[in-house]
Amino acid sequence: MEKTVRISEDKHFNETDIIVKVPETCPICSKNMLPQCFPNVSVSDIEIDSTGNIPIYEAALIARCTSCKHLYTIFFKLFPNNEYDPILFGDLYFETKIPQINVSISETIKKISPNFVKIYTQALQAEKLQLNELVGMGLRKALEFLIKDYAIFNYPEKELEIKRRPLSQVIEKYVDFSDLKTLAKGAAWIGNDETHYVKEWPHKDLNDLKKYIEASISYIELKSNIFDAQKMIEEKCNK
Ligand SMILES: [Zn+2]
Repeated sequence: MEKTVRISEDKHFNETDIIVKVPETCPICSKNMLPQCFPNVSVSDIEIDSTGNIPIYEAALIARCTSCKHLYTIFFKLFPNNEYDPILFGDLYFETKIPQINVSISETIKKISPNFVKIYTQALQAEKLQLNELVGMGLRKALEFLIKDYAIFNYPEKELEIKRRPLSQVIEKYVDFSDLKTLAKGAAWIGNDETHYVKEWPHKDLNDLKKYIEASISYIELKSNIFDAQKMIEEKCNK
């Protein structure tokens, strides 16, 4: 279905109408329908890409499903021709913007457990998207990777056993430092509550879980730095 939409004048484009081919499937209810489109298009002020030397800008229009009546956004890309008239670049698409998370994770943790970094970041992205029922499960999974990978880092010969055992047993048997054991156990209990029907610790929540995981990260970094410094001292003693 073709729609005429209006691009307002800005520093990249002249004011003009363009014809866009709007998808006829609703991204929310998946029904085929002819959406109502609001006529004015919003254009990003920064280049999101380029083709050769020609900058590409992201543009969006709001549509309303005529079946479920929800509003949604349709994105497309534009580049200006020599006269600053907008030219469509590629097809129109729906897109859910995934929020960028600036989690500062040290190289030490990235090296010990790259999977932890990936899962932890996704859990925090889910939180930003207000998918609150999924955040705790994601954090619980992230914790399992952090603790098991750290245990494997310290006991590489036990890798298979550590991978197979439940997290609680790995914490008991392969986490050597009592403070880290306490933090990991507390985090695992709250994390388990996030995946079970009945909460065993109703006065604890996601913020406590995040605090315990952050403290576990800091503890692993601390121990790793102490271990590094100890190696220096031993080298000097052996000279
Ligand atoms: Zn719909």
